[in-house]
Amino acid sequence: MEQHQRKGRRVVLFPVPLKGHINPMLHLGQILHSNGFSVVVIHTNFNSPDASSYRHFTFHRISDGLDDQDHPATTSNVLSLFPYLNASCLEPFEACLREVVSDAAGEPVACLVVDAHFHFTQGVSKRLRIPRIVLRTGGACSFHLFTALPLLKGKGYLQVQDPKLEDPIVEFPPLKVKDLPAISSSDSDKDKLLQLVISMVSTAKNSAGLILNTFEGLEQPSLDELRRELPVPIFSIGPFHKLCRPANSRSSVAHNKAACISWLDKHNPRSVIYVSFGSIAETKESEFEEIACCLRNSGRPFLWVARPDSDVRTAARISSGLAGDECIVKWAPQLEVLSHPSVGAFWTHCGWNSTMEGISEGVPMICTPCFAEQMVNSRFICDVWRVGVELEMGRNGLERGRIERAIRRLFQEKEGEEIRNRMNDLKEKASLCLKQGEGSSFNAIDGLARHIMLLES
Ligand code: UDP
Repeated sequence: MEQHQRKGRRVVLFPVPLKGHINPMLHLGQILHSNGFSVVVIHTNFNSPDASSYRHFTFHRISDGLDDQDHPATTSNVLSLFPYLNASCLEPFEACLREVVSDAAGEPVACLVVDAHFHFTQGVSKRLRIPRIVLRTGGACSFHLFTALPLLKGKGYLQVQDPKLEDPIVEFPPLKVKDLPAISSSDSDKDKLLQLVISMVSTAKNSAGLILNTFEGLEQPSLDELRRELPVPIFSIGPFHKLCRPANSRSSVAHNKAACISWLDKHNPRSVIYVSFGSIAETKESEFEEIACCLRNSGRPFLWVARPDSDVRTAARISSGLAGDECIVKWAPQLEVLSHPSVGAFWTHCGWNSTMEGISEGVPMICTPCFAEQMVNSRFICDVWRVGVELEMGRNGLERGRIERAIRRLFQEKEGEEIRNRMNDLKEKASLCLKQGEGSSFNAIDGLARHIMLLES
């Protein structure tokens, strides 16, 4: 990315400490830095980012209370994690931000850029009189749905029982009731989810702007709806990762990267299935057998991310009985993997980052959404953009018959070829939106930089 003249202003980023939120926030930091801003990152102690990979940023760590014993919030329980962090980070964040702002040697702070889940920052920004821009790390399609979730609840959609899960949500075609976040959860989890969503939408509505990692050519209808509903400027400036230089990796990560890439190098173009369900979703022990057997029976080489660590042991045990051609790792350099010519399909949980990464590298997807807005993303991938096949969980989770059918559809049937063609078109659009001077994301970044310079403290 071209380097702009320095602007003499700092922006202060505050990411939610989960991979799928930290990565896009740091990418956004790189984009803003390339556009002339100095970047300060305030981050929690928990899951703190690798500062050595971003030497041009200034990092400040705050305590988050997550080291205390017996706290209920964990990464596998985000419904508890988000409210917990919103309470525990308030004081340390405000104190840290005051210090950053009052540092006489530093450039003036132009604005805060916070994750949409950090709604407590609204009060801090008011008290310190620092404009606050919100980054939503999900797509416009799900955010649009979120703006209407209270209304949909009022219409009874969140209380629908089993046989009606296939019904359409008439206000949001082509979504089905089963695509609603937390639809199969307990009433108390549905309430927690609804509260999170309401806070997130309200914090965006009351901000100085909303940034989304998407592009007009992909999500224009949803973006148009959001622009009608939210009284703030909306900047769709993705795909973020295509605008950044890869961060310098730590040696363990670099080692893993070399192993994955040299394994991929040995394979034919578009032959490998890359399997990853992101950084939070967990695979049940019973599902490992199903995944491994189906992938082996498909006769295709596969690169499988099995995490957390305990799952790597299970996967290794299962794979030792496999005669297939596989590479099993606990973390893959996903961006490099998806852009490798050997990769022919991406079996994904449809997290938004993975969705954007798959689309911008033109890799057809097999979609197994797990929770939150992933069902919405999957519906758009399969039924709107039509660049993937749905592989739903059965009653017992992932089932053999369904997995085999999805792989067959993508690799052996005519439908697979059509999906591949549409994916190539979408990849092309993702590339065009970044084109200097004319691409929608390129121009939106310019607009964002100007907007930040005009914000009054
Ligand atoms: N990721 C990665 N290597 C892996 C698995 C995931 O680099 O083995 C990255 C991936 O590229 C993406 C992020 O982790 O940027 C996961 O974010 P996403 O929104 O897809 O899912 P989440 O982890 O939030 O469920």
